[in-house]
Amino acid sequence: MQKVMSHFAHKKFPAAPIAAIALLVVVLAATLAACNKKQPSEQNTAPVYDINMTYDSEAHTISAKQETLFLPPENMKENFVLFRLYANGMSEDNDAIDILSIKVNRKSADFEICGDDNTLLKIYCSPSRELMSVALDYEVSLPNSPSRLGYGKECASLCFFYPSLAVYEDGWRTDEFANVGDPFISECADFYVSLTMDASLKAAASGKIENISVFEKDGKSYKTLELCAENIRDLGIVVGEFSALTKTVRLPSKNVAVSYFYLSDAAPNDTLSRISSSIEKFSDVFGEFPYPTFCVAECPLNGAGGMEYGAFATLSPASPDVYLDAATHETAHQWWYSAVGSDQLHDAWLDEGLSEFCTYYFYKLNGEPSRYLSAMAKISTAYGDFASVMRPVGFDATMSRPLGAYASNGEYVAVTYQKGALLFDNIYSLVGEERFLAAIRHYYSANKFSFASPAALAAAFKTQGFDISPILDGWINNKDK
Ligand SMILES: [Zn+2]
Repeated sequence: MQKVMSHFAHKKFPAAPIAAIALLVVVLAATLAACNKKQPSEQNTAPVYDINMTYDSEAHTISAKQETLFLPPENMKENFVLFRLYANGMSEDNDAIDILSIKVNRKSADFEICGDDNTLLKIYCSPSRELMSVALDYEVSLPNSPSRLGYGKECASLCFFYPSLAVYEDGWRTDEFANVGDPFISECADFYVSLTMDASLKAAASGKIENISVFEKDGKSYKTLELCAENIRDLGIVVGEFSALTKTVRLPSKNVAVSYFYLSDAAPNDTLSRISSSIEKFSDVFGEFPYPTFCVAECPLNGAGGMEYGAFATLSPASPDVYLDAATHETAHQWWYSAVGSDQLHDAWLDEGLSEFCTYYFYKLNGEPSRYLSAMAKISTAYGDFASVMRPVGFDATMSRPLGAYASNGEYVAVTYQKGALLFDNIYSLVGEERFLAAIRHYYSANKFSFASPAALAAAFKTQGFDISPILDGWINNKDK
């Protein structure tokens, strides 16, 4: 997230659209080969989500059929698998999602929705190491709020609407859904999505749109998009009456299809150019951009400059400088959050601090080193001011703690973004540019599509002969500074 500082292989169309398609089918785009849908295996354990969803833009509801295929954790001891209902955490009464039915391996299963915020979905089953199919039928009511899940005047954000397989460590993770930061954690997975909605809307989303078909029903036009997004942590979709620009970024070993969907951006070419340039420059120094596509959409967000998803990001309308920095920040998250995952619920500084550092390091890569230095000086002053104002009433500067342990959103922003960026700047100054970049390249390649910890960051610097553990310890655990 960017905080505002201070400040298919198998498709299951719904019955009615099938009848309608028989009457009138207009295939608009069928130029790309269909996705080869994968299945989890011992070699590639990524869960697979096959989601057939319809968005009703008048009722602001989603109805969906979802099948998730996954290999249960080897050390699973519970008699249930756990999904997270993030949609409930994002609605006022924690009741956005209505589960209509659940089948495990094609048989009806008992389930329970629990947790203080109704974000835990326990689905009872026998422990097994065999490939498991969990089929869910559900409806989601979108909150009336321009947020990560919700609708506003100009667009609707359909992110985190779906039940998401929880992360398993010694047991299923059941972290509370905090109202601070990004209270989400998930493994990389493959998504194959069919989205039906009013034909007048455009969808900006993770992954590649494989096909668009248009049909009539009861005198209204609808369209169905088929999407394929692989190796992403969270599926992002926003819909609205967007204008769009596209560009191909050519990297040494692949092309990245970049698209930018905007509403009121007065200089959309500048934004597309900043996104593309961030992809090029970060690919050059950290390792290539992890995905074949990257889509960014302008869509208002409450209290934040932007939000990252897998191969997708949103940007909230803002003044041009802030907006372009948010574009760089969210692009950096494709390396630090999406490809290299981390525990956002406990070590939020690891992806936010590094993405915030990258936001300004971009200027150095762009031949504007003084802008990097002045941005770091500004962050240092802002952080120092916040700490000194808050200290008399209580200020905790420790960086690795649960999201719910932050006293306020202001403290979270100061500690994870500002202090986080200053921590990376400190390491950068100490080890020098060449070795800093070599270590970060190692951190990326060694942890791509899995999870990294602070220890993994230290291990990356060890490859360059540096022991940054005492530095990390000093920054992370100092309560006062
Ligand atoms: Zn962020």
